[in-house]
Amino acid sequence: MSQRIYLTDPTCEQFAGKVVSRREEDGSWWLELDRTCFYVEGGGQPSDAGTIGAANVLRVFEHEGHVWHVVDRPVPENDVIGRVNMAVRHDYSVQHTGQHILSQAYWRLFAAATSSFHLTDKSVSIDLSLGDMTEAQIAAGEALANEIIRRGLPIGTSFHDDRETLPEELRKSPVVKGPIRLVSVGDFDMCPCGGTHVATTAEVQFIKVLATERTRGRTRVIFVCGERALREYARRIASDNVLAQMLSAPYAEQPEAIERLLTTEKELRRERTRLSRELMEYRAVSASPHSTFTWGTYFEFPEWNEEMDDAKYLLAAISRMRRPAVAVLVMPQDPARIFISSSSALEAGAMLRQLYAKYDGKGGGNAHAAQGSLPAAQVQDALETLRETLSQ
Ligand SMILES: [Zn+2]
Repeated sequence: MSQRIYLTDPTCEQFAGKVVSRREEDGSWWLELDRTCFYVEGGGQPSDAGTIGAANVLRVFEHEGHVWHVVDRPVPENDVIGRVNMAVRHDYSVQHTGQHILSQAYWRLFAAATSSFHLTDKSVSIDLSLGDMTEAQIAAGEALANEIIRRGLPIGTSFHDDRETLPEELRKSPVVKGPIRLVSVGDFDMCPCGGTHVATTAEVQFIKVLATERTRGRTRVIFVCGERALREYARRIASDNVLAQMLSAPYAEQPEAIERLLTTEKELRRERTRLSRELMEYRAVSASPHSTFTWGTYFEFPEWNEEMDDAKYLLAAISRMRRPAVAVLVMPQDPARIFISSSSALEAGAMLRQLYAKYDGKGGGNAHAAQGSLPAAQVQDALETLRETLSQ
């Protein structure tokens, strides 16, 4: 079993180790070392990044009692130097320590236990065992956590061989075999943990809850700590500034400005529908027939580049105002869309089915309206076939 240096010395950045075993798996290289200061993924925290020799460490995980370092190229030497990327480690440690504090805050205030913790390079969240937490409760936990952070309490680590003598105030029970590592946040929190942490709560700087999600009797709290929180703040300010310019409204007035825009847009849409219907009715009355037959009038719109809703409304208006009539409209994309309406004895659906017996396409409809598609190359031919049918 590799010695895990980070458990006792979280500041260790570089170490000399020996390769005790190697594997090659699907184009990646696995190394087992006699000792490592790379954090081994687990407990919701990803593994550390860094290098072993000239290779980049992609992932460190435990499998069947062995700690494997997945690297991006072969490492031929047996004596190697490992270097941990301390910027990534520090960020993970800040988020993880923040999680201890926030979890204890919700536990103290509302007896909401943390059932899981998830940390990636982009997001941090905990799942709380209470499903109906209010916004006020979430905010109260965040406020208590920030108060603890400001006190600059020391983070302590201790090892315990005897389970019987573990302190009573533990926030959760240990799940691992062997010696228990306890991590304490001053006298505020104590729990078994194998992760990496900062030295004092002051390094967490502050915690900000970004969102909550309620699922299956649990509340997921998504949050950020330290530098991540500052970056998040900077991103949101940049976005607010763009919005302020676009809306000509300062931050506090933006929701109102957007609501006004949405209301105006809705009214404009409604007005546009009313006007376009009026226009389609005018066009239905004034449209020149393509042909006039004994059974009625035939209208054709072979290249419709306007809205589809308007097309349908126009055909329905022709059926209503120029009866008995058949109207055909084609939207010339590929495949072309074809619409047929009828207020004559000829059924629109039957006409379309007749076309499909001869051409490739799909669609359907009833006696009054039908719609479908046709390959663009067949449209002219299909329209001719249709005219011929109508003339007989
Ligand atoms: Zn921890």
